Order: sequence, then structure tokens, then C-alpha cells
Amino acid sequence: MRIGVLALQGAFIEHEQMLAELGAASFEIRQLSDLEQTMDGLIIPGGESTVQGKLLHDLGLFEPIREQITAGLPVFGTCAGLLLLAKNIVGDERRHLATMDITAVRNAYGRQLGSFHTEAAFAGQGKIPMTFIRAPYIESVRPNVEVLAEAGGHIVAAREQNQLVTAFHPELTHDLTVHRYFLAML
Ligand code: GLN
Repeated sequence: MRIGVLALQGAFIEHEQMLAELGAASFEIRQLSDLEQTMDGLIIPGGESTVQGKLLHDLGLFEPIREQITAGLPVFGTCAGLLLLAKNIVGDERRHLATMDITAVRNAYGRQLGSFHTEAAFAGQGKIPMTFIRAPYIESVRPNVEVLAEAGGHIVAAREQNQLVTAFHPELTHDLTVHRYFLAML
């Protein structure tokens, strides 16, 4: 089992460490030639969705990655990764990979609540710690999308078949629940 971790920008190293803790091998995707390796899953980390979106295009990674996701490659997007996968972003014309039937709100918690920490149930597995950093939330999902977690009245984790997203950063906690859930999707 090998997981590709998009390593253009943002918190990708923390994901690699979590995968290692779970005994899963990973490799970094920084350029087109990295996609010559086969991967069983892909992680798109938190960071800045606009920067990552632009780099995906500049580096020629956008189409091949989008094709693999629509062909069924398991993908896990955290925070900015969620925004890259969302088909709709409220009040924003920009669309990125746009493979997942969710509508997201960017920087949804405003300036004062820019970063915060809470606990909430995830996928019926009890409460897990959730760290939010200038996070989006999911405003709505289509019926084909399963809601996996809500916090403060907003959807913060969801799954559509091979696609998993969290508005929070499990890789910045010590809780392996979400990464374990992702590996079980593979
Ligand atoms: N606010 C960032 C964005 O719009 C996401 C923040 C994050 O990934 N921690 O892409």
C-alpha cells in the first residue's frame, strides 16, 4: 500500500508521519514525473487552496490527478484539500479539481475564530480532536455524499465514494482515527 501525498505547499509532512505511524508507505508528489509511480491513495493537504490550485496547473499535475480521482482513486483532502475537491465554493468563481458534490464556504469562521480546537464525533467512532485553521466548512452536500462529522452546527467531514474530506486537520493532532478510516477505504 503506497499513498501519494501532494507536496506542493502546506502541511504535507504531518500526513506522511501519520501514515508512517499506521505502517503505510508514502511518497511525495511534487512534479509530473512523480505520477509515474502507482499510488493506492492520494492525500491533498491543508495550506492555501488558491496556491495549490495554481501550482497544480503550472506543473501539469491538474488533469492527470483529476482523471485518477474520477477513475476512482481514493483521495483524502484536508482543509485546503477540501476546497480543491469541492464542486462549489460559496461566493467564489474559482473551481479547482471540482470532483466532489459538496458546497464549501472558504475561511468560513471569520477572523476572530480563525483557528480553534474542538472535539466531535467522527463516522460513528466517538469523539476525536479537531483542529481548525482558517478552515472552510461544508454548507451543503448532495444526497450521494455521506456526512461523517458535524461541529458547531456545520458539516466538517464527508465522504463521496472514493473521496474523503475534513475541514479540520487530523494530521496536526495525535489522533489516527481519520487516517485509519482513509486507509480502510483503499
Ligand atoms: N484558508 C485556506 C484556503 O482557503 C485553507 C486553510 C487550511 O488549509 N488550513 O485554502
